[in-house]
Amino acid sequence: MEKFDVVIIGSGPGGYVCAIRCAQLGMKTALIEKYNTLGGTCLNVGCIPSKALLDSSEHYHQAKHNFEAHGIKVGQLEIDLAKMIERKNEVVSQTCAGIDYLMDKNKVSVFHGIGSFKSAKEITVKDNDGKETVLTTNKVVIATGSKPNYFPGMEPDKKRIITSTEALNLKEVPKKLLVIGGGVIGLELGSVYARLGAEVEVVEFADRIIPTMDATMSKELQKVLKKEGFKFNYNHRVKNVENKGDKVILTADNKKGEEVTFEADYCLVAVGRKPFTEGLNLEAAGLKTNERGQIEVNDHLETSVQGIYAIGDIVRGPMLAHKAEEEGVFVAEYMAGQKPHINYDLIPGVVYTWPEVAAVGFTEEQLKEKGVEYKVGQFPFKALGRARASMDTQGLVKILADKNTDEVLGVHIIGARAADMIMEAVTAMEYRASAEDIARICHPHPTFTEAIKEAALDATDKRALHI
Ligand code: FAD
Ligand code: NAD
Repeated sequence: MEKFDVVIIGSGPGGYVCAIRCAQLGMKTALIEKYNTLGGTCLNVGCIPSKALLDSSEHYHQAKHNFEAHGIKVGQLEIDLAKMIERKNEVVSQTCAGIDYLMDKNKVSVFHGIGSFKSAKEITVKDNDGKETVLTTNKVVIATGSKPNYFPGMEPDKKRIITSTEALNLKEVPKKLLVIGGGVIGLELGSVYARLGAEVEVVEFADRIIPTMDATMSKELQKVLKKEGFKFNYNHRVKNVENKGDKVILTADNKKGEEVTFEADYCLVAVGRKPFTEGLNLEAAGLKTNERGQIEVNDHLETSVQGIYAIGDIVRGPMLAHKAEEEGVFVAEYMAGQKPHINYDLIPGVVYTWPEVAAVGFTEEQLKEKGVEYKVGQFPFKALGRARASMDTQGLVKILADKNTDEVLGVHIIGARAADMIMEAVTAMEYRASAEDIARICHPHPTFTEAIKEAALDATDKRALHI
């Protein structure tokens, strides 16, 4: 029996970051992971592999559609999907190996096996060979993450009716890919295969894609994706998806309540993710999950049992790697007696389509609903010299500011490099900047960030300079 100050179950961005911070703060730390590699969903089957394939497919798309306009002639272009997947796998293994190094460096004891509660202060680790080790501990952090969700009638068979995990490892480019759910996963992985030549058709329950983001972003992104060949079906209620051997048949009710049928060679189910607690034996610790499958926590991320904390996808809030990381650091510092803070209103969200969509703060719809008086500043990428130089003229920056105080309440960007640009807005909003504050900051020329300055000028008093 080994004794620790803290045992963390799950090595995703929540768990492994928490382990590093606990070790930095002098705690004797154990990290349990049921798979052979560390890094969780994010590194193994999420953020990193999806971005690797997004980058590869974007290179192909650029070579096929834009190189000629840049004066670059290429010979016969071909896709080697196996090589593309192999490169993605190498990126994943290098990144996972990096976590092994970090655990080693910080002297975190890593146990591979399924972690389950024996009691509130004892965790059993059962490895692949069935060998059990019991760890005793003062504190426990549950960071077991999430798994793909699905609804009755759309159960993935992982062959033709697939989740994001299988979509990252396809052996062929589908001729036609149906995507249930026009959210982040559907549009990112749909983009990968659309760029590689698949016909992609989205069947979405809501009346727009990325329905939790600002409606202007949904509208603009839809325009771009339609040009790439995406087809969209909104207000559709999926009833059944069936693997017919060499194809899938999907039936759904459309807005008018009529039954419609879709046919494709693969169907990606991307209707959200659900918290994962299987095998944890929560009852032994006196814990249970709520009706959404989450572990409930208070403002300090502590569960109903003192000394047991939960972080990341397993608890309320957006299912994002950087949110899980912040919570990992928060819990470590709180356990060490510090007074950490997370500003949940300023967690940025990014969709890695091309162009990218990135946002922080309130959407226009949320401000309307809250009855906040606001003003809007916008600036299109096509008015930027930098965007014209790189042929990335699609997109815009939209800034929402308080009508009376000018404080920035939300920033929404669709355009090249939006994922990186959004950090200017996050920093400004963390310091409660006004639109005029951003407008008066010198932005380098020529850069895409000038669109943020111009949108801020537009929000301040409609005095954008370059339009
Ligand atoms: P996870 O990363 O899910 O890790 C949980 C770990 O716990 C897993 O390794 C699991 O094996 C382990 N575990 C579970 N139960 C046990 C047990 N009983 N014993 C031992 N180990 C256990 N987010 C972003 O911010 N940006 C992105 O670009 C992005 N892209 C994504 C792309 C895809 C295709 C997917 C699926 C997700 C993406 N996400 C992205 C979401 C992101 O991956 C998650 O929000 C993040 O991984 C959550 O971290 P976590 O630490 O809470 O859990
Ligand atoms: P999501 O919540 O982003 O999108 C799910 C979509 O499915 C929504 O548009 C929803 O309206 C739709 N939907 C729900 N039920 C449906 C039904 N029965 N029929 C048709 N459509 C339905 O979820 P996701 O795309 O599966 O991603 C899961 C999680 O992973 C998200 O929380 C996301 O934050 C995270 N993720 C993040 C990134 C990123 O940060 N770039 C990338 C991938 C995944």
